[in-house]
Amino acid sequence: MQPDDIVMIDDVDQGRRPIVTDGDEKQSTSEALAVCPGVGLAHDSLPTDSIDELRSTWGPVLELWEGHAADDWLRFEASSGGVSSALAIHAIEDRGLAGLLHIRSRPDRAYLNETVLSRSRAEILSAVGSRYAPASPCDGLHLVEAADSPSVMIGKPCDIAGAQNARRVRPELDEKLGLTIAVFCAGTPTLRGTFEMLEAMGITDPDTIESLRYRGHGWPGQATATVRRPDGEVDVHSLTYEQSWGEILQRHRQWRCYVCADHTGEFADIAVGDPWYRPPSVEEPGRSLILVRSERGREMLRSAIRAGAIVAVPVDPARLPDAQPWLERVRGEAGARAATLRLLRIPAPVYRNMPYWSVWRRVLPLRDKLRSTFGTIRRIPRKRLLQRHPARPLEPGRPAPPEER
Ligand SMILES: Cc1cc2nc3c(=O)[nH]c(=O)nc-3n(C[C@H](O)[C@H](O)[C@H](O)COP(=O)(O)OP(=O)(O)OC[C@H]3O[C@@H](n4cnc5c(N)ncnc54)[C@H](O)[C@@H]3O)c2cc1C
Repeated sequence: MQPDDIVMIDDVDQGRRPIVTDGDEKQSTSEALAVCPGVGLAHDSLPTDSIDELRSTWGPVLELWEGHAADDWLRFEASSGGVSSALAIHAIEDRGLAGLLHIRSRPDRAYLNETVLSRSRAEILSAVGSRYAPASPCDGLHLVEAADSPSVMIGKPCDIAGAQNARRVRPELDEKLGLTIAVFCAGTPTLRGTFEMLEAMGITDPDTIESLRYRGHGWPGQATATVRRPDGEVDVHSLTYEQSWGEILQRHRQWRCYVCADHTGEFADIAVGDPWYRPPSVEEPGRSLILVRSERGREMLRSAIRAGAIVAVPVDPARLPDAQPWLERVRGEAGARAATLRLLRIPAPVYRNMPYWSVWRRVLPLRDKLRSTFGTIRRIPRKRLLQRHPARPLEPGRPAPPEER
């Protein structure tokens, strides 16, 4: 939306941020704000044909499956079981979709992400794996709109919700978004998180890295960065998932993620996450939990299974809360945090038809109930929630924001 007026930039401590290109704070951004998922999320209604016991906490879920990409190499390389990439490849190779809008590591600065419309298996395979750093795939929606036939999109829940909002006001985009796949998301760490992670690996200058992945090569795999030495040899630096995500990255999640009620892609056709209900075994090749969220998603998953692109079995609805107890709690906590802030007239997202008080009451122990409400008030000065936070672009040459807003 408004590509001539707004660009996305990387701010090390805040994440990917939209800034107005000519620095004119008075310029209207109403078109973009109207579809921005940061402002709020809303289901028109919760479909009654979705699974009853999951509806109020997890949004519309028509079917729950567990499986993996049939291609062993893709399964090994990917984040959980490679289902997201396998579905996209099936949609392009067997169903004639034009391409896949998603993100990948930037070739020139591996710790930054860029949006691409991949059109081949090779391009998709080169971008598999979760990247625990800011990314904004919606900034490539114009590529989807301009393609000859419909495309697939993969993104976080907020990315997919943004695309869903945009398609409502852009009929051409609506026609061209052939399938949306959300990856579950506990929150996106800022680049500061990546820099700290690299430091823990012994890398002090992020610009020396040649490649960076956060997971994959088994489930959940390791965070691995490579650095080419002057003599041409390559040094490989790794941290376990517990060290990288558990001890470093998750502490750097952005504030918007702390008040987010959708961590499982409620607005997508298909959502994919980790089956954490069991600890990974040694040399685990990986599996994905698959949520069918729309008729379109149901049809494409069945087609991919029939074609042998994905191996999956239906599982009991109870497996979702078993696999994601943390995301269940977060639904209640985040909703309560946002409601508390709104009560104090501090900007926070608004959620409609996404119940969270029921989860708050049922799932959270008293201590966490208090933390998510009264504790949020304590966070207001600590997180400086009453102030504006001007975005500061990491890269020179990108448009500078106004000094003061
Ligand atoms: C920031 C983040 C937090 C997550 N938190 C959780 C969690 O709490 N629980 C859970 O079960 N799962 C979480 N996931 C999702 C999980 O790690 C897997 O991505 C998911 O299971 C899909 O796996 P896959 O093997 O099908 O994906 P793959 O086949 O490996 O494909 C991954 C796709 O995701 C895209 N992608 C990668 N990083 C990003 C990003 N930052 N923004 C947008 N698109 C991206 C890639 O372009 C690629 O197309 C998180 C993912 C991210 C990026």
